[in-house]
Amino acid sequence: MINADRIADEFARMAAISSPSFREGAMAQYLEQRLRRLGAQVEMDDAAERCEGECGNLIARLPGTRDGEPFLLSVHLDTVEPAAGVTPVLKDGVFTSEGDTILGADDKAGIAEVIEALEVLREQNIPHVAVEIVATIGEEHGLVGAKLFDPARLRARRGMALDTTGVDLVIHRAPAANRMRFEIEGVEAHAGIAPEKGLSAIEVAARAVARMQLGRIDEETTANIGRITGGQACNIVPKAVAMEGEARSHDPAKLASQTRHMLECVEEAANELQREIGGERVRARIRSEVDEDYPVMSVPLDAPILELVREAAAVLDRPVLVRSAGGGSDANVFNGYGIETVIVGTGMTDVHSVDESVRLDDMVRVSEFLVEVLRRA
Ligand SMILES: [Zn+2]
Repeated sequence: MINADRIADEFARMAAISSPSFREGAMAQYLEQRLRRLGAQVEMDDAAERCEGECGNLIARLPGTRDGEPFLLSVHLDTVEPAAGVTPVLKDGVFTSEGDTILGADDKAGIAEVIEALEVLREQNIPHVAVEIVATIGEEHGLVGAKLFDPARLRARRGMALDTTGVDLVIHRAPAANRMRFEIEGVEAHAGIAPEKGLSAIEVAARAVARMQLGRIDEETTANIGRITGGQACNIVPKAVAMEGEARSHDPAKLASQTRHMLECVEEAANELQREIGGERVRARIRSEVDEDYPVMSVPLDAPILELVREAAAVLDRPVLVRSAGGGSDANVFNGYGIETVIVGTGMTDVHSVDESVRLDDMVRVSEFLVEVLRRA
């Protein structure tokens, strides 16, 4: 049913189009034409203007050939770098790059699988509901396109994102995340001549981090301080430090409490290290910022979308593993918009590296699965 040569050609063509985050213009143009040829209406939103990208998110609507609620397929146009001059190589049934760039199977394997599934629906006259496809920009750069997307453009209330490693694998839960930035301002002084006139921002930062519970907090929650910058020279009591960190949890209440804990640790460290300078009580000034990075994704195991996953897998007589992920993706954002979205493994491996690869057989396998899903959606 699936045409392996066609999917291989399609993947190779797209992999060769360079599309790092915010420079997805050529890729968007190609996909727009490709989806039009499949009978979809395609439009682009105005996300580009709001993130200085080359193009916006692509939204395609393939009319249904039978009644029913429309179904969402979500992919992303962008890749990480190095992405200049990708030359896909197919050897022994496995696609890789030539070794000096990424391959871009993340997410072009997913896009190729979607295109092939739509080809098959048409070729075989398989009745299906309307399919809405969203191809976002800037996914690898903090889900920028998905966050700028207006969900009112979609009628689908459930769907799938083609965007994770593995095959016969579906992700139904992923944590929410908060990003934090702390600016600590102490008092500068000569470290040798007048250290008592200074208040070290580095000491405050160190004390704050030492107080924090970090790493794996519990089964659902993690936290990290990932970046510290500050200070000027060995002989200067440092005035300014900036710290960046994050917390993630599958439970929004735990995320809130871990975030609060990290903020409190910085405040407590500043209190602890207060000192008298020139007859005045001085405390480091703290500026904390919390950015709610992405919402939680939590599709219940008995949700209709997972019912559909199991049905399609059963028809194909193959196992399907449904599990949690540790990171956020566009699917978090779509779930936040009220569209019940699970993530499907596309077969890509070693993503975000020059060793990235994808097996042609796996792309065929995922495409077959998509056809069964769309036949039943
Ligand atoms: Zn991806």
